[in-house]
Amino acid sequence: MSERIALANRVTQIAPSPTLAVNAKAKALKAAGADILNFSVGEPDFDTPPHVCEAGKQAIDDGHTRYTAVPGIPELREAVTARFKKDHGWEYSPDQIQVCCGGKHGLYNIFQAVLNDGDEVLIPAPYWVSYPPMVQLAGGVPVIVPLDEKDDFDLNPDILGRYATEKTRVIMINSPSNPTGSLFSRNALEAIGKMALERGWLIVTDDIYETITYLDSSLPHVLDVDHRLKDQTVILNGVSKSFAMTGWRIGYSAGPEHIIKAMNKIQSQSTSNPSAPAQYAALAALTGPQDFPETMKEAFLPRRDFFVRDLESIEGVSCVNPNGAFYVFPNFSAYFGKSFDGKTIGDSVAMADYFLDEAKVASVPGAAFGADDFIRFSFATSMDVIQKGMERIKKALSQLS
Ligand SMILES: *Cc1c(COP(=O)(O)O)cnc(C)c1O
Repeated sequence: MSERIALANRVTQIAPSPTLAVNAKAKALKAAGADILNFSVGEPDFDTPPHVCEAGKQAIDDGHTRYTAVPGIPELREAVTARFKKDHGWEYSPDQIQVCCGGKHGLYNIFQAVLNDGDEVLIPAPYWVSYPPMVQLAGGVPVIVPLDEKDDFDLNPDILGRYATEKTRVIMINSPSNPTGSLFSRNALEAIGKMALERGWLIVTDDIYETITYLDSSLPHVLDVDHRLKDQTVILNGVSKSFAMTGWRIGYSAGPEHIIKAMNKIQSQSTSNPSAPAQYAALAALTGPQDFPETMKEAFLPRRDFFVRDLESIEGVSCVNPNGAFYVFPNFSAYFGKSFDGKTIGDSVAMADYFLDEAKVASVPGAAFGADDFIRFSFATSMDVIQKGMERIKKALSQLS
C-alpha cells in the first residue's frame, strides 16, 4: 500500500508507548502457544470491586447514557473535593476539578493548557514513558533531570538547579514513581517547592499511586511544604490504579481555577466529557468502602519482598526497594557486554529481548523510561509467576558469558 498522504511533523517526533508494545508482543507470543510469564503489564491484577461495577450497570439502567457536563458530573467533582479534604485537609471547590478520560488524558490536557512552543518541562528520570511525548505534542521541550539509584531515586536538589533555565515553566513529580516505585523525600519536595515559588514554575504532581505505598508514615506531598504552592500546582489522580479501573478511563485533576477552565475548553473541543456510566462507577469508588487499596497492598507486599530479595541475591544485580506502586526496577548493567550464542547484549532493549526469547519472560527495558541500565518488572501478578519468572531469569543470566 502506498503512503500518498504525508503525516504531521508532530507525529513523526514521537514514538508509540513502548510499554504497550512489549505487552502486545508478549500477548502475540502467548497466543501462538508460548509459555510466557508477563511482567510488563502496568495495571493491578485485580478485578474492579463488585460494588463499583454495580454502580456502572445501575447508571446505564438509570438512563445516564447521554453527554454530561464537560468537566464531569457535579457529584463526582464534589466527591473528589471531599476526598482531598478528608485525606489531606486540602480545600478545593468543584470548579477546580476536571474529570477526564483516564489519568493520561488529564496530563495531556494540562500540558496543552499551559505550554507554549519552546517552554521547558523538568522531568526527573527514570520517568513515566508518556511524559516526554505529551510535552512534545504540546510544543514543549522535555528536560530530563537524572535521579541516582544510589539516592534510592530521590531528587538531589543540587542537580535540579543545574537543569533549570529561563525557559523552565513546569516541573513534574511522580511519587510513588512508575517505574521505580520510589518516593520523593520531604527534603526534595521542599527544594522543588522553594524553586517553584521563587521562579514561578507550575508543579504537576502525578499522584496516581498515592494509595499504594508500603510506608508506615504518611506519604510526603509537595502541597504540604508551603500552602502558597496550591496556586501553582496541578494534581493529577484517578481511579485506574487505586480501584483497578484501568479500562473505565476515569482520571481527575485539581488546580488553580483558570488552568482547570483552560483544560475544560480543550476537553470541550476534543472528548466533550468522560463516559457517563464510568463516571458513576468512579463516584461509587470514591464514596464507597475504602478497603480495596488496602487489600491490594496486602497482596503486593509479600511479592515485592520476595522479588527484591531474589533479585538482590543475583551477582551483579542491584534493586532499590520500592516504597510504593507495584514495580521493581533492577539494574542489570553488569551483564551488558556479555554474550549468548554469539549475540552480545549491549543495552536494556537487548536484555529485555533476551529475557523474552530465552526465558519467556516479558518485561520493559529501562530505555523506555530514560534509564538504560534497568529493566522494569511489574509484581501485579501472582507469587507463583514471580517465583517461576525469577528461576528462568537466573538461568538465562547464568548462560551469559
Ligand atoms: C497508570 C498511570 C497513569 C494513568 O493511567 P490511566 O490509565 O490513564 O488512568 C498516570 N501516571 C502514571 C505514572 C501511571 O503509571
